[in-house]
Amino acid sequence: MTTETAPAPQEFQFQAEISRLLHLLSHSLYQNREIAIRELISNASDALDKFRHITLTQKQFDDGSELFIQVEPKAEEKVLTIRDNGIGMTKDELIKNLGTIAHSGSLEFLTKAASAKAEGDDQQNLSLIGQFGVGFYSSFMLSDTVEVLTRSYQEETGWRWTSDGSGKFSIEPAEGLSRGTQIVLHLKSEVEEFSRPVRLRHILRQYSTFVSYPIKIDDELVNDQKPIWVEPKSQVTDEQYKQFYGYISKRTDEDPLWHLHLTSDSPFQFHSILFAPPANEELLGFGRSDHGLHLCAKRVLVQNNCRELLPEYLRFIYGLVDSADLPLNVSREALQDNTVFRKIRKVLVKKVLGHLEDVAKDDAETYRKFYLQFGVVLREGISIDFENRQAIAKLLRYRSSNGDDRETLIGLDDYVSRMVEGQTQIYYVGGPDVRTIEKNPNLDAFRSRGIEVLYLIDPVDEFVLNHLHDYAEKPLLSIDAVGVNLPEQKKDESEEKKEDEKKEDETPVGLERVLALFRQSLGEQVQEVRTSSRLTSSPCCLVSPEGVLSAQLERVLRANSDEFQLSKRIFEVNAKHPLMRQLCELSAAPANDVFIKVCGQQLFSNLLILDGVVTNPHDVTDRVLGFMEELAQQKTGATPA
Ligand code: ADP
Repeated sequence: MTTETAPAPQEFQFQAEISRLLHLLSHSLYQNREIAIRELISNASDALDKFRHITLTQKQFDDGSELFIQVEPKAEEKVLTIRDNGIGMTKDELIKNLGTIAHSGSLEFLTKAASAKAEGDDQQNLSLIGQFGVGFYSSFMLSDTVEVLTRSYQEETGWRWTSDGSGKFSIEPAEGLSRGTQIVLHLKSEVEEFSRPVRLRHILRQYSTFVSYPIKIDDELVNDQKPIWVEPKSQVTDEQYKQFYGYISKRTDEDPLWHLHLTSDSPFQFHSILFAPPANEELLGFGRSDHGLHLCAKRVLVQNNCRELLPEYLRFIYGLVDSADLPLNVSREALQDNTVFRKIRKVLVKKVLGHLEDVAKDDAETYRKFYLQFGVVLREGISIDFENRQAIAKLLRYRSSNGDDRETLIGLDDYVSRMVEGQTQIYYVGGPDVRTIEKNPNLDAFRSRGIEVLYLIDPVDEFVLNHLHDYAEKPLLSIDAVGVNLPEQKKDESEEKKEDEKKEDETPVGLERVLALFRQSLGEQVQEVRTSSRLTSSPCCLVSPEGVLSAQLERVLRANSDEFQLSKRIFEVNAKHPLMRQLCELSAAPANDVFIKVCGQQLFSNLLILDGVVTNPHDVTDRVLGFMEELAQQKTGATPA
């Protein structure tokens, strides 16, 4: 009579690399242990994905059961089981999958760890595990012994795989298993916390919220987030976008300004939802936004604040990117080198900039709100993203001399479309506010020709336009630049002749004398004193010589450093201005020299004040006081004391 005995477990050796890996994992790595949970959940999710795919193509395997991941902590026994009802493994698959290096990340980890070890760099060793993750084998970070109970969807019986991580594993048949895999971790005494539901819930919320299958700890659901980003846009409601925004930004009490839902299947597959928050935290004094995006690979979270997915100047965006073509375990450094990652980043930037252009076109009010909040961040892109510079330039907005009211924001395209005949340059002027800017005497020449000028209230804007240099092949120039090349005001020939004659007539006698006196009194403060062709209603203006920053920019630089020396400018005089005519008349009598010189000084000070620079306030007020006294005396007829 033969008695049926269970066949003895069959023993196998791990591939040499795995033995090394396991040794390392169980003996020298103590940090980042929670990533083992993430790895196992991710494997379970993959197994469910595969099974779902099979049921879609081979209907006979579809028993209608709900696909799930179950996490079962048993504190008393110090056991943690992670169970899925996915594809399961056959005996051959077990040997192959859990006995050799299947995971390219593991191999990479091993090579790196070996070299780190050779250099005795324990710290590096520790950080490596987080970078690569090592898939299933990370379970040995938590366990003395790991059991895998599994039944493939294709088989009636299942298998028990066991190992203590010391170089060997054994496989034996196991009865009574349902489809899928259970990873049973016999926890090391120092990681008993991993059998506490509170701890597990925390880890799962951190790493696996976006897994698209229900994850339960015992019977309690931990991930209730629907992966709306993989749904077709048409099936996602505004309310869902809003909820998702609240979840991802942790700002549940506000609505996003806009969202952008992207899906691509080739050349690589990815889904993404991006949001602009309604307000710029940085402006509110919350410090730099550095929340980054959620990066998922097949819905499993890889990094929850991946800042490298978008350039700095789009750092205000919240959102998620999910790609099946990304490796699950990648360090920040390795990510930057990953081709798919780099391509996704490139696409995201282009799409965001394109979307902003659309918003600007289709919904001016929203764009205005957006720009007032984030324009200040976006414009940084001009100096750092050469490739997209023109696309970013399209999105810049300024107030302008053409604005219907002082609040209208003008884009460079608007500006170019309104350029007058013969105008070849784009002009801007900086100043602390619109009212001050509008007093700028240099604007005269532009007003008289009907040429629009952009008003730059924030000095940074001037740096930005300086950097941009040109737009639509038109140079960008500050109105006080020497290179300003204004189109002639159109006149027919005879008129021009008359004008010339008139001009000669108009040049007042004594002008040279006044200019000479101005030169004497201004001395080293200016580079040159000369008559101007650009002024109409103001008596004088300052012009920046070639290569000198605009007055506005210099003012800002000076405010930031007392050391900063203002550049010398050209003092231009409007010979037709009534004051200048009177000074010319007065210049006939040498007794008036002092008065004319004082006037020259005060005119210069006025210009500096309009530029926001007050160099010697006492001199200025003393001079004004002097003028007032003189006037008062004239009025009262009193004689000076
Ligand atoms: P990776 O998951 O990156 O391939 P792992 O070392 O984590 O690497 O796992 C190796 C292989 O074992 C997987 O590719 C998969 O085929 C198999 N496997 C792991 N966990 C499961 C599971 N829960 N169900 C089915 N197969 C699994």
